[in-house]
Amino acid sequence: MTTEIAVAKGDGIGPEIMEAVLRIFESAGVPCTYHFVEMSRSVFDQGFSTGMTPEAKATIEDLGILFKGPMETPKGKGVKSINVTARKVWNTYANVRRFRSIKGVDTVFSRAGININMTILRENIEDTYGGIEYMHNQDVAVCYRLITRPGSEQFVRFCFDYAVRQGHTQITCGHKSNIMKQTDGLFMNVFYEVAKEYPQLQANDVIVDDLAMKLVRMPDKFQLVILPNLQGDIISDLCAGLVGGLGFAPSANIGDSISIFEAVHGTAPDIAGKKLANPTSLLLSGIMMLRHLGKISYADTIENALLKTLEDGIHTGDFGAAGSTPVNTDQFADALIKNLGNKPHQDAVNTNTADFEFKRPEKRTFNRVFPESSNDNEVIDGVDMFVTSDLQAAGVAALIEPKLSDKFMLRMISNRGTQVYPQGSVYTDCVPHYRVRLEKKSEITRADIFNQMAVLTETVQIEDAEILKSWGDVRGYALAQGQ
Ligand code: NAD
Repeated sequence: MTTEIAVAKGDGIGPEIMEAVLRIFESAGVPCTYHFVEMSRSVFDQGFSTGMTPEAKATIEDLGILFKGPMETPKGKGVKSINVTARKVWNTYANVRRFRSIKGVDTVFSRAGININMTILRENIEDTYGGIEYMHNQDVAVCYRLITRPGSEQFVRFCFDYAVRQGHTQITCGHKSNIMKQTDGLFMNVFYEVAKEYPQLQANDVIVDDLAMKLVRMPDKFQLVILPNLQGDIISDLCAGLVGGLGFAPSANIGDSISIFEAVHGTAPDIAGKKLANPTSLLLSGIMMLRHLGKISYADTIENALLKTLEDGIHTGDFGAAGSTPVNTDQFADALIKNLGNKPHQDAVNTNTADFEFKRPEKRTFNRVFPESSNDNEVIDGVDMFVTSDLQAAGVAALIEPKLSDKFMLRMISNRGTQVYPQGSVYTDCVPHYRVRLEKKSEITRADIFNQMAVLTETVQIEDAEILKSWGDVRGYALAQGQ
């Protein structure tokens, strides 16, 4: 049964590599129908700020699958990346990137006989990618890094299910919760909560800097690593480097309703239109898409033909043995098409699953809103105010303390996260931006906080504030370094 999918060729080398991949699909008899949609740099120029036409959006939302080439984000026009927008508006919350050693792709590991076969799963919506950023004053920029329980749980559950489906025995959570105790702490807690439901998997965690070192020293020791968005972005490119570069690293962005399959490299403007581009990354992403659509046998046939072609030493100009002549994009696709039905001598693929029919998810008619966790035992402890001042911290305290009502006390002042008042070190350099922590002396409400701040605006310049809360033993805010 044929499956309809939306296809956006993209910019730069996008159309060349997409045409090569679709030609390979056609030669392999892949039962798919393609709906080409307008989504590219030129669409921004037509005045659509998301980089896609309304018709493209409707088609993608109807079909639920988008296969896309790389796309350019116009610089200096204040528009957001079309790639990031697509992932976020359609809530493709899990980014799946598989990295494996491929015969014919020379790397330091292939030369050392170390076989890499691992998957990085990156949370795709939250973290710094919300782009929620402000200048508190002309000297200080801040970014809200949102990590949420529902978002983490949705992603982590997908990861554990994926691990089971792929027959893994181990799953590793990468994080930086030793420093970001609230945000990465929440992500890791959710990981271990969900892990209890999957006793068949060995779940462990590793701090992301240690993970980076271990991945470079012993990449064959990892099966599946899951990470928050930004760390996942960096680590997955590191892993691409381990197996030969971005050209060999497919990517899938999976959501409950819409999924996007794309090459991870960019539009390569330096070689666009010259037919020099390597279509492998897009092809591998297409192979992931075919498996997602249940077209397992077609995916295996095409992947084996690709592996055989690479094993035969056929390559585009961006890789391959020194001295051997590269082929162009079309010649690479021709060689692969000739190999359809052939298998590589080493590491032939045989997914032990029968083809199945893809079930298109129900179309959405309203936003899903996750329920709030119980807040019954919430207690308000105080407030952190961010204040612009180029006084010494004691000078800031002298402006604040006389203005405090009998409900509040000044607990501490920190600068860039390090306490500088009442105790601190004279060696801590201060920028004109203090965090002033007021704690309650008796029970307080949100209204008490806002009333107190209104009084303080008479003497200090408050830029922003965070209410300090706790739930039983759980404190919902970090202590300052040195507090
Ligand atoms: P790039 O990946 O386009 O290019 C980096 C280098 O890798 C270049 O030398 C290029 O020639 C080479 N290269 C990339 N893909 C190749 C391929 N398939 N075959 C052979 N060589 C290849 O990165 P960039 O130059 O930083 O970005 C160019 C544009 O792409 C920017 O507008 C950026 O926003 C966009 N971009 C899009 C995506 C996406 O659509 N997912 C991802 C990254 C960058």
